Amino acid sequence: MKTGIVWFRQDLRLSDNPALRAACKECDLIVPLFVAEPGSQSVANLGAASKVWLHHSLRALKDSLEARGSTLLFLEGDAEELIAAVAQFFKADALYWNRCYDPAAIKRDKKIKKQLQQLNPKSFNALLNEEPWNTVKADGTAYKVFTPYWNARTKSLPGEKPLAAPSTIACSEQIRGLVNSRQKSRQKKLPLKHLDQLSLLPKLTWHEPMMSGWTAGENGAKRTLDAFLKKNASDYKQYRDIPSVDGTSRLSTHLHFGEISPRTVFYKLLNGRRDVSELNEGEHTFAKEVIWREFAYSLLFHFPHTITKPLNEKFANFPWESRYGKHLRAWQTGQTGVPIVDAGMRQLYATGWMHNRVRMIVGSYLVKNLLIPWQEGERWFRDTLLDADLASNVMGWQWVAGSGADAAPYFRVFNPVLQGEKFDAKAEYVKQWVPELRNVELRYIHKPWELTSAQKRSLNYPEPLVDLKQSRQRALMSYDRIK
Ligand SMILES: Cc1cc2nc3c(=O)[nH]c(=O)nc-3n(C[C@H](O)[C@H](O)[C@H](O)COP(=O)(O)OP(=O)(O)OC[C@H]3O[C@@H](n4cnc5c(N)ncnc54)[C@H](O)[C@@H]3O)c2cc1C
Repeated sequence: MKTGIVWFRQDLRLSDNPALRAACKECDLIVPLFVAEPGSQSVANLGAASKVWLHHSLRALKDSLEARGSTLLFLEGDAEELIAAVAQFFKADALYWNRCYDPAAIKRDKKIKKQLQQLNPKSFNALLNEEPWNTVKADGTAYKVFTPYWNARTKSLPGEKPLAAPSTIACSEQIRGLVNSRQKSRQKKLPLKHLDQLSLLPKLTWHEPMMSGWTAGENGAKRTLDAFLKKNASDYKQYRDIPSVDGTSRLSTHLHFGEISPRTVFYKLLNGRRDVSELNEGEHTFAKEVIWREFAYSLLFHFPHTITKPLNEKFANFPWESRYGKHLRAWQTGQTGVPIVDAGMRQLYATGWMHNRVRMIVGSYLVKNLLIPWQEGERWFRDTLLDADLASNVMGWQWVAGSGADAAPYFRVFNPVLQGEKFDAKAEYVKQWVPELRNVELRYIHKPWELTSAQKRSLNYPEPLVDLKQSRQRALMSYDRIK
């Protein structure tokens, strides 16, 4: 009788889960496990919004496992110690997991592989379509520019066929009984927790409206992908930049938590077509975006220091503003006086998500017009985005700041008024999130500071924190000091 532990991490699904699949093939009994760990990059360090999603995603995973005759054990603490305790308790012979790529997880996993050799730990790729070490330049170094990376990747798309979910997952009465009991005796040997005891949900109920538009978990992910492919994929190129239109997939959080695999995304997107060259324009653009995510993972893997430090070293001495608390707070709460920026920041706070075009606009405003270090923006997004993802968030912020891979040149400062007029031409997005401006004439809505004093007084909307022209000039002068 062989017993295998499957340690779930960023792979909260049953379909196309190679670790689970291998365990089901090689073992007679499976112990599915989730560990809430303290420390950096782990549950303890997740942002508040991510924790909420994780709670719902774990519940969905537990339900799916139970529907197949199994269950999910929850533990809290040091993963190595707890996995050793679980292995001893169930007399397990084997350990399976799917890989994570952030430096802290890599370090932890290497240590566990060494320390728990008796379990012959096996790891698999489930989070990406391709391992980051497989796509490098001819000289063996990592890509820093997207287009050649994309060209190199197109050859291997769609990749392997996704694995089906196991129809049953062998589980013993002992395992199920343990999860369902609240016996003190089992707590001594194995400090199992109930999902609610992991404290992922905050005490206040702010998260309930935030989650109302989302369905965490594998089924929600599949439905989201199917609906997007059916309704929006072909028009993706046309509408992906319009924040008032639901033109993007909204798959990012599902992908982050591994509720759906990128292999499945590509397999369904291609739908029998040979490769990406056969996709229509919208689908092709979407495929590229999904590979941007893999590019971000490649950068994180090859340049892990970029989590906190600029990839382009000359930005290490960039003369950021030093006393920016008030401006940062105004940005976070959507009170900058720049309508499209405030709309984005309020959408983020209310829904845990912000449209990509607006992420670029609010990012540029923070680092260029307010001269606030990109790390502050990265931190706020990490706390408030449901899809907060170390790789994509760091790459996004370094791109905005001009210090990252394939970055927007620093001297290209987004003008939020022109961006608003171009991508929110009828101001539908601004009107939705900044209701104070609903009755403002369209020609002023993206620049309400041009209204008369009397009109402005009636709005109850803040004056801009900084003058856009002057702050742009100041940003360019700051850049001149490091270039
Ligand atoms: C400053 C900044 C911070 C960001 N932080 C994050 C983050 O923490 N987590 C995150 O998933 N994305 C992040 N992004 C990228 C992008 O904004 C989101 O992935 C996208 O808005 C999610 O919406 P969607 O699923 O509808 O995307 P779609 O447009 O439907 O794209 C499909 C998928 O491709 C991937 N993708 C798309 N654009 C990018 C991109 N620029 N970089 C990396 N992957 C991409 C995502 O997985 C996305 O789900 C950030 C972008 C910026 C500019």
